Amino acid sequence: MENPDTSNQQKVAAPAAAAEGGGGGEEEEQQVVNPWEVSAKDGGKIDYDKLIDQFGCQRLDQSVIDRVRRLTGRPPHVFLRRGVFFAHRDFNEILDAYEKGQKFYLYTGRGPSSEALHLGHLIPFIYLQDVFRVPLVIQLTDDEKCMWKNLSVEESQRLARENAKDIIACGFDVTKTFIFSDFDYVGGAFYKNMVKVAKCVTLNKVVGIFGFGGEDHIGKISFPPVQAVPSFPSSFPHLFSGKDDIRCLIPCAIDQDPYFRMTRDVAPRLGYHKPSLIESTFFPALQGENGKMSASDPNSAIYVTDSAKVIKNKINKYAFSGGQDSLEKHRKYGANLEVDIPVKYLNFFLEDDDELEHIKTEYAAGRMLTGEVKQRLAEVLTEMVERHRLARANVTDKMVDAFMAVRPLPTMFD
Ligand code: ATP
Ligand code: MG
Repeated sequence: MENPDTSNQQKVAAPAAAAEGGGGGEEEEQQVVNPWEVSAKDGGKIDYDKLIDQFGCQRLDQSVIDRVRRLTGRPPHVFLRRGVFFAHRDFNEILDAYEKGQKFYLYTGRGPSSEALHLGHLIPFIYLQDVFRVPLVIQLTDDEKCMWKNLSVEESQRLARENAKDIIACGFDVTKTFIFSDFDYVGGAFYKNMVKVAKCVTLNKVVGIFGFGGEDHIGKISFPPVQAVPSFPSSFPHLFSGKDDIRCLIPCAIDQDPYFRMTRDVAPRLGYHKPSLIESTFFPALQGENGKMSASDPNSAIYVTDSAKVIKNKINKYAFSGGQDSLEKHRKYGANLEVDIPVKYLNFFLEDDDELEHIKTEYAAGRMLTGEVKQRLAEVLTEMVERHRLARANVTDKMVDAFMAVRPLPTMFD
């Protein structure tokens, strides 16, 4: 189905540290993390500490998590507690606003490149349901996928609606959520902001941030403002008219950081707040932590459409195990949790802290076997995927229209 244009991927291998902060741009990077490619150095793990230094973002440390706990009065989501969201930019400013009772909104998105979402794609959406009760805008970048994946305009739009169903199935509240497709929504106030942003970013700057080269078509080079401007409330007059001062928080995977470095660099020049970010690690590939779960490699990924049987087979066949290769050795030495993918996955999705701790202890000590851990993982994921499948089956075209209608949301702050 897809015919990815990879010409850009080679050229963006060593993105320079951008506008804001960030040292380390000079040295030869072998780890590649950008919006189009994620791969670790020499088959190792992604070095997230290095990304924080390179991108110049802040570590999401315990003090921030404790503050979320204090302010919301309940335990923070597992994605915060267990380091899935590991970095941020000015999240404290959002918490300051929240503490003072000021409003803010959330912005996230999805590039509709595949028929169904995989578990990695769900991370920002799952987290959002749990967090502060605030309005949410979700951008479907069908234009981006049309340009990067060489899809037709019509096919990108079709995928955007299909993906919208998966997003709606995560349980969002239609009175607080606006989902929009770039092909449908760009224009008016949104487009005015795009032009304002574009005027602030030179070709040199965009090449420095994204690594575009002379052979890339100008559609790619002119795309970044499209992803930038949902960070500004004035791009949504039907939602935020008269509230141009409210702040924006963006949950996303760390590979999207370049877009928002650019946005944050430009915002003050336009008289806008810089958006804040909380940034997640990648849900690893079944094969191991040197790559991310990726839609273009079906064996690396569990899709929200996979059946119980497929999930079980994929886990048994592909999930990289830290267990020993004979029962005798396993009982003696135990499993290496550092490289074990089933344990990593449970860390994302098994909510019960005590059970997770128990599994880790028993498995590391060799009392629990790889097969047992994989079986528990298959149960956890199957339950999640089944729940999602049922919810998605109930999402009608009418509901998609309702979420995507350009309309005021009068009770979105209630
Ligand atoms: P492809 O392999 O075709 O590039 P993909 O799985 O990378 O597909 P995209 O549609 O390119 O999916 O993903 C869009 C964005 O979704 C990524 O840029 C990233 O921010 C997020 N994302 C994708 N995969 C993961 C993952 N495994 N964990 C966390 N976030 C992910
Ligand atoms: Mg991708």
